[in-house]
Amino acid sequence: MSDISAQQASEPRVPRTGSAAAAAARILVVEDEAALSLLLTYNLEAEGFAVERVERGDEAELRLAESPPDLVILDWMLPGVSGLEICRRMRAREATRTLPVIMLTARGDESERVRGLTIGADDYIVKPFSVPELMARVRALLRRSRPDRVAAILVAGDLALDRENWRVVRSARNVHLGPTEFRLLEYLMAKPGRVFSRAQLLDSVWGLSAEIDERTVDVHVGRLRKALSLAGERDPIRTIRGAGYSFDETFGKPD
Ligand code: CA
Repeated sequence: MSDISAQQASEPRVPRTGSAAAAAARILVVEDEAALSLLLTYNLEAEGFAVERVERGDEAELRLAESPPDLVILDWMLPGVSGLEICRRMRAREATRTLPVIMLTARGDESERVRGLTIGADDYIVKPFSVPELMARVRALLRRSRPDRVAAILVAGDLALDRENWRVVRSARNVHLGPTEFRLLEYLMAKPGRVFSRAQLLDSVWGLSAEIDERTVDVHVGRLRKALSLAGERDPIRTIRGAGYSFDETFGKPD
């Protein structure tokens, strides 16, 4: 838990914790659908996680035996050994007994879902799912199991974003953002300097199922900028013509 939750809302203060997590949390993605595996890897890496990918259940077992990661995203139907069986075996071994597992499955069947949770998965997500939703669950699980590996508060210069309490503070004032603007800022701020296209932002912030005009991104970036920066304050969001947007990596750094 971050300590700013205890503060009075009337006394916003920029927390002193840095944004850099000590070491990137390691996530093992076990998924035999190549496109989905790549999509997950891309988004997890964009959030600063270190990702290993395997396609087969037996490969996953080898990886888990060699060096357990901090979290496993485990598909249910896999060649080799099934996700369910992998999860069952993980729970039977001391080294992986408490390792967080998110099961992925195409089945929405309630009895299957219960079976997965009974066997020891920490969370369960049914395909097709929204990427932001999965990322939120990954972060929530890691915050519980490895709080040292997930920065609860992102800080750049006089700007701080608290992921747990959904608060943004700039120069000792609360910044009020809508949920989309909050997620947009969180996403950009987690990877300073990285340029994201409008399509990438739609995928990652709005979710895969969103069929929204790319100009929507511009509208929300506009709202975000207006809320973040008072007259004379530096804009932390950069527009890269023809490419997209990024969080300015020089923001808050000495010249
Ligand atoms: Ca599969």
